[in-house]
Amino acid sequence: MTQAITTIDTLVVGAGQAGVAMSEHLSKQGVPHLVLERSRIAERWRTGRWDSLVANGPAWHDRFPGLEFDDVAADGFAPKERVADYFEAYARKFNAPIRTGVDVICVVRNVGRPGFTVHTSEGVIEANRVVAATGPFQKPVIPAIAPKDTALHQIHSADYRNPAQLPAGAVLVVGAGSSGVQIADELQRSGRQVYLSVGAHDRPPRAYRNRDFCWWLGVLGEWDQAAMKPGREHVTIAVSGAHGGKTIDFRELAQQGMTLVGLTQAFNGSIASFQPNLVDNLARGDENYLALLDAADAYIERNGLDLPVESQARRVFPDAECIKQPILELDLAKAGITSIIWATGFAVDYSWLKVDAFDAAGKPQHQRGVAPESGIYFLGLPWQSRRGSSFIWGVWHDAKYVADHIAIQRQYLEYREAAPVAHKAPVSA
Ligand SMILES: Cc1cc2nc3c(=O)[nH]c(=O)nc-3n(C[C@H](O)[C@H](O)[C@H](O)COP(=O)(O)OP(=O)(O)OC[C@H]3O[C@@H](n4cnc5c(N)ncnc54)[C@H](O)[C@@H]3O)c2cc1C
Repeated sequence: MTQAITTIDTLVVGAGQAGVAMSEHLSKQGVPHLVLERSRIAERWRTGRWDSLVANGPAWHDRFPGLEFDDVAADGFAPKERVADYFEAYARKFNAPIRTGVDVICVVRNVGRPGFTVHTSEGVIEANRVVAATGPFQKPVIPAIAPKDTALHQIHSADYRNPAQLPAGAVLVVGAGSSGVQIADELQRSGRQVYLSVGAHDRPPRAYRNRDFCWWLGVLGEWDQAAMKPGREHVTIAVSGAHGGKTIDFRELAQQGMTLVGLTQAFNGSIASFQPNLVDNLARGDENYLALLDAADAYIERNGLDLPVESQARRVFPDAECIKQPILELDLAKAGITSIIWATGFAVDYSWLKVDAFDAAGKPQHQRGVAPESGIYFLGLPWQSRRGSSFIWGVWHDAKYVADHIAIQRQYLEYREAAPVAHKAPVSA
């Protein structure tokens, strides 16, 4: 793709899984398009995550419909490099028009004529439509409570790679969603003393009665939930495909020596304080876990499925000391903590997209990815159309919807008034 292109019907920004899916559906619709990627295809899977990361869902699930992983077992969990290779192979499969190493700097609507002017690191492109496929997790967020103490090594989970990268000493991991709990577990396995700050979370069973939780969420219709339930905005999901895929059980991790604390509240000098909500957060996580087991049991019974009973799944680990007597204040220096890892999530950054498609807080406004500014589309947003939207399988279906919308709009614009029908004189009898 060395040829300079100055005009294109549809420009897709970003060639992660969202950009690749978008390109496939636009190709199927015959929409001339170009995908610009500042780095490499699926770069975030290559260099934006820790070394040992594997997909959270099994290979049969975390993929696009058109291609299976050829060297990962269907029930296995693909290592992150393999996931990136998969998307590269997928893009090759239909010869996706992707130009890598091109940064989109700014998109502005044209005045007095349709379309957008796109400023890139390699020149200017005119596009009728722009699809922002720059990812659900763009800007690492570290909360303002982070201590200013420069003696502490502090990084966001996006910059964590492996235990050897951290200075010797204990580690406080703040946030116990899928990233935080996996990083905490890896650090503990490497011999570190680990403190894990646990907020509100869901923790589905990795598998139950011979079916992965991805399957259960599918057949129970949970991936298809159209909107987040009110009050659940700050609830993370703790799942992992590491070590062949194991259910996250915080009580078990505590039994293994990890010190759990509640939500991190503040830092004062070397003293960290935690909200008194650890026991409640664990109880709610257990409730969520058990509710899925109950729903699965009911589904099996209703459908007369022959799936093995798994009574062990309801076993409860005894409470470790940190749960019986939750720590509300901790002297980091005395505890030997030298590092804090902030597994506190991400924000989006659309500062390059200078169009009328955002609310006052900078949040994209859209209906299933179609922005109020005509010609602007989003893809890969969390909850874009359903719970599964920001995940591998979900984005493919959202991309189809967006491509259909683009094709329909193109049809409108192609409409020309039909040639006037010649007036026919009434036939006389
Ligand atoms: C730690 C972690 C683990 C995850 N594990 C799973 C999993 O196992 N299964 C699953 O289904 N989902 C998983 N996800 C969620 C989701 O699948 C990933 O976040 C995925 O990377 C999102 O793909 P995307 O294409 O939407 O965005 P991204 O992968 O972020 O791709 C966006 C691309 O846009 C490019 N870009 C951004 N701005 C510009 C610009 N201005 N100009 C040009 N290019 C630009 C970036 O370089 C990037 O390559 C995980 C997420 C995280 C954070």
